[in-house]
Amino acid sequence: MTAETAYRDVDRNHRVVTPPTKYSLRPVEERASDFAEALAYTAGYTAETAVIEAARCLQCPEPQACLLNCPAGNDIPEALWLTSQRDFVGAAKVFAATSPLPEVCGRACPNLCQQGCVLGNTFGAISIGKLEAFVSDIAREAGELAIKVPEQKTGKKVAIVGSGPAGITVAEDLITKGHAVTMYEAWPEAGGVLVYGIPSFKINKEVVAYKIKDLEDAGVKIITNTRIGEKITIDDLLEENDAVFLGTGAGIAATMDIPGEDLKGIYPSTDFLVRANVPEEKLPPEKRGKPQIGKLVAIIGGGDTAVDCARSSIRMGAEAATIVYRRTEAEMPGNAVERGVSVDEGVKINYLQAPVEYIGDEDGRVKAMKVIKMELGEPDASGRRRPIPIEGSEFIQKVDAVALAVGYWPDPFLGKKTENLSTHKWGLIYADEASGATTREGVFAAGDNVHGPDLIITAIATAHAAADSMHKYITGEEHINPIAPPPPRKRR
Ligand code: SF4
Repeated sequence: MTAETAYRDVDRNHRVVTPPTKYSLRPVEERASDFAEALAYTAGYTAETAVIEAARCLQCPEPQACLLNCPAGNDIPEALWLTSQRDFVGAAKVFAATSPLPEVCGRACPNLCQQGCVLGNTFGAISIGKLEAFVSDIAREAGELAIKVPEQKTGKKVAIVGSGPAGITVAEDLITKGHAVTMYEAWPEAGGVLVYGIPSFKINKEVVAYKIKDLEDAGVKIITNTRIGEKITIDDLLEENDAVFLGTGAGIAATMDIPGEDLKGIYPSTDFLVRANVPEEKLPPEKRGKPQIGKLVAIIGGGDTAVDCARSSIRMGAEAATIVYRRTEAEMPGNAVERGVSVDEGVKINYLQAPVEYIGDEDGRVKAMKVIKMELGEPDASGRRRPIPIEGSEFIQKVDAVALAVGYWPDPFLGKKTENLSTHKWGLIYADEASGATTREGVFAAGDNVHGPDLIITAIATAHAAADSMHKYITGEEHINPIAPPPPRKRR
């Protein structure tokens, strides 16, 4: 099909609509046996298919549902119009005007914009995310998304702790305002969760490397292998800088606290993914070495990370990679499209089940788990129906390895090491969501370390707000006061 011959249909308002031209994945046998990006071509599209897909946009009158649904406020209709006119660079610049990571969001976010598209209930929503990634890849490779900085510098300095989506957003926002920016990363390479969390079959790491290089070319100083709170503290940073931003994410995997969880072969999901996906030269010595998965891998949890662990297991040669989830598919929190792709690649999902005990062999290595069946009760605080164990339904499932993907929290280290920086439940930094102000004067925070694990685009949106406050604070345009610490927790 070409742009000229595409089949066209008409909706009830006599608007011309073409059926979806879906993005392409590499053949399943090929993509499930390596860690390269699963998308074919450039982010799943060729120039021709991208034009056809973008041309399906109805250019709805304001307020457009896609735009309203995008936390970053991307002007999606304009970007799709330019894409349909083959102005890929122009379209990429529209996306880049409101998001510093369009190629990343297009690949890894569940595309809230797309969920809002009015065509979703009839002809099929526009593949906005993959088109965003497609045009951004083209523009970035052509050097057209380089960050522009003013010649006149302000003389103000900021330090950013963490180089994931929130840190990258603040770095770009502040370097483009003429401030000097230094970004610190604890791992050997900058990118945070984009390098050390999300697998390369979902986000091609060249895309992240391009962004980091763009920031460096714009003047951002990046210091890796440096965990703030050890030799350099927040107090040290505040002495050297006018403000500090904390974008340290939520990289500590939770456990279930059930018997046998400390057996060999049971991995926190973050450790599992890092070892499985990241090349050794980008890892500290203690994180090197692939997970020992054997043949049967169980992944506990139901979100995107569980799916990532399962797809990684398939790529490492597991005969069975089984997600064990305590609710049903209707309550699953992750990206349904990616979940469908994982099933195509061979992942199995056992719903309404949860492990209650891990059983080890004589060497202390997991060999099985006791699993209990569940049924759903009334909704809990999350609004989802509560899973209730069915008494007497336990059975034994053989496993060679287990990945625990049951929740995440921030590293509590920074909160413990920094005076007057309040944290609250699960080590989340206590901060004002609107301004990013923390309980410490001059220290701002946003992203997963404030609101818990969430979408990349949510971290970007809140980091934009924090960067705006930091700019006002360091230039004296507005004094942003620290917030009051939370009331002490009541003892039971
Ligand atoms: Fe285009 Fe869908 Fe947005 Fe309407 S809602 S402008 S069809 S992307």
